[in-house]
Amino acid sequence: MSFTVKRRMPSVEEVLAIQPLPPDVASVKKTRDSELQQIFEGRDNRFIVIIGPCSAHDETAVCDYVSRLAKLQEQVAEKLFLVPRIYTNKPRTTGTGYKGMLHQPDPNRDPDMVEGLRAIRSMHIRALSESGLAAADEMLYPDNAAYLADVLGYVAVGARSVENQQHRLVASGFDVPVGMKNPTSGDVSIMMNSIAAAQAAHTFIYNTNEVETPGNHLTHAIMRGAVNHFGQAIPNYHYEDLSHLVKLFSDRALKNPGVVVDANHANSNKRYSEQPRIVMDVLDHRRYSPELKQLVKGVMVESFIVEGAQQADGNVYGQSITDPCIGWGITEKLILDMADRC
Ligand code: PEP
Ligand code: MN
Repeated sequence: MSFTVKRRMPSVEEVLAIQPLPPDVASVKKTRDSELQQIFEGRDNRFIVIIGPCSAHDETAVCDYVSRLAKLQEQVAEKLFLVPRIYTNKPRTTGTGYKGMLHQPDPNRDPDMVEGLRAIRSMHIRALSESGLAAADEMLYPDNAAYLADVLGYVAVGARSVENQQHRLVASGFDVPVGMKNPTSGDVSIMMNSIAAAQAAHTFIYNTNEVETPGNHLTHAIMRGAVNHFGQAIPNYHYEDLSHLVKLFSDRALKNPGVVVDANHANSNKRYSEQPRIVMDVLDHRRYSPELKQLVKGVMVESFIVEGAQQADGNVYGQSITDPCIGWGITEKLILDMADRC
């Protein structure tokens, strides 16, 4: 193989020893984790809002954003459960471009994976310490999941990874909810198979060990819209799409049937400013149908401080360098409106 080994990456044990999660922060996270678990188990009726930028490229802006969310969380504590999106690994449609802070801790410099690993753990620990909110990240590379497993409150498996066996097996060993996205083709049976796989126990090779997992009973679906043969977006947040999932879940013996609706990506056709309308539409479906009220556990929204997006080398503070996002003013209004409507 034409690989050039540049240097050895630090082991998980080394990283955790150098950048430990402080015990007081771990205990805040434990409480948050058990609340989120109760929502997915149907024992707490609050609605989940996974919200934040498409990619987290700047620790200061991300922590500023997450602290704003923490203040809002207090105001809407009775109705909503906020999970900041702090995405440090970015799948790319054509494989090129910014791949997240793990690859490029400074988007204007060459990739540096050792520094990237340090930077993403530092950002996640700081955001959790300052806000008390356990965050979501995408599991893009299952081998790397153990570097962040103790700090994440929620894990998503992306549309381009959901059919992959290693993602499914690693998800089966997470202690926090894992959302399986529908693939870009829109075939929801792939997503349902992925949920079934991650809910089951497995034995497999993980990094250099043979491991066993118990199965993750909090694995659920994320509907993110699809793309047809002509490359056109096909939304799947409508009443009929979600009702179809009620049937698919009841046809299989899956634990804790649950769906999160991703309001951006192919659901908005990346028209980011449609997200509040889509979210409100989903809340209406839940109000109309008791079955959907039970099934639809939350939404995912791409939001940052400044609306829209800039090039990866742009320097607008708090603006996305990947998918365009709604800005803070609209975000605040959306969260307060959701709390009124839930
Ligand atoms: C994302 O959440 O930014 C993303 C890339 O999602 P998807 O896997 O649905 O394309
Ligand atoms: Mn995105």
